[in-house]
Amino acid sequence: MRTTTPCWQVPRGLCLLTLALLVALGGCGQRATPTPLSPAAVPPTATAVPLSPAAVPPTATAVPPTPAAVPPTATAVPPTATPVPTIPAAARGYVPILCYHQVREWTADDSEEDRAYIMPPAILAAQLAYLQREGYHSVRAAQVHAYYAFGQPLPPKPVMLSFDDSDGTQYTVARPLLHDYGFSATFFIMTVVLGKAGYLSAAQVQGLDREGFDIQPHTWDHHMVTQYQTEHDWVQQIVEPRQYLERLLGHPTPFFAYPYGVYDAAAAQRLHFSSYLAAFRLREDLDPATEPLFAIERRIANPYWTHDQFLAALQGGP
Ligand SMILES: [Zn+2]
Repeated sequence: MRTTTPCWQVPRGLCLLTLALLVALGGCGQRATPTPLSPAAVPPTATAVPLSPAAVPPTATAVPPTPAAVPPTATAVPPTATPVPTIPAAARGYVPILCYHQVREWTADDSEEDRAYIMPPAILAAQLAYLQREGYHSVRAAQVHAYYAFGQPLPPKPVMLSFDDSDGTQYTVARPLLHDYGFSATFFIMTVVLGKAGYLSAAQVQGLDREGFDIQPHTWDHHMVTQYQTEHDWVQQIVEPRQYLERLLGHPTPFFAYPYGVYDAAAAQRLHFSSYLAAFRLREDLDPATEPLFAIERRIANPYWTHDQFLAALQGGP
């Protein structure tokens, strides 16, 4: 079951209807059940390693050490940690973050408006070829966060490529192209659709993770964060999807992408208190950011862009 009109561009009421239908068809209005996780998918709890006696510094004794007992200074001193140079806030530049959805050929059923959100494979390939030729380096959500939060340096010409909403073509079409051009990408996963026709499966999400791609949560069913009313809504949309992905993958997934790119101060604060580290909005949403790390700008990669518009997007221009 697919909708031909993406939710992010239809009126809110219709979008909710679509989502309601999606959920209803998926399980008569019940919460869609993600694929059960095997116990093996749960990472083992870190075990505290007891200190060996050798790690305990010797107490002073009356017996003078023999010269032979004194280890050579050069080997006894651990190597000094090289301080990581940090970039002052004022010197940090713009990190372009592109957002893709479906990657496939346009069909006669796709309206012109739909097509703005459907990236034909040849155009994605041309964009990746340009980025490769010009020496861009793909970065992950954690790197972007560390750059903006702490000034941790990024590789030259950084770009973050991101794919939203768990569309199946991201695995079948985008993934091979990313491999061809040597780029990583972040996949922001809407968990309700996993395993449904036309969408990623849980096994594909695991496969992407194992191949080194970045997997992060994008809610359960794509409701806007500004619409959550009850505690249950927050848990269902921002807590459980993350827990699900972390059990599936065995590592933290603390970076969130807002559905439709829409956020507000309450949502940013809620994510912060839910131990997320950062969240990504869309450029089109111009609400003032009260927590900059929870309003990092992305922009939708538009297949209608001219080459100059693509370059402007990479540079943070209009
Ligand atoms: Zn989305």
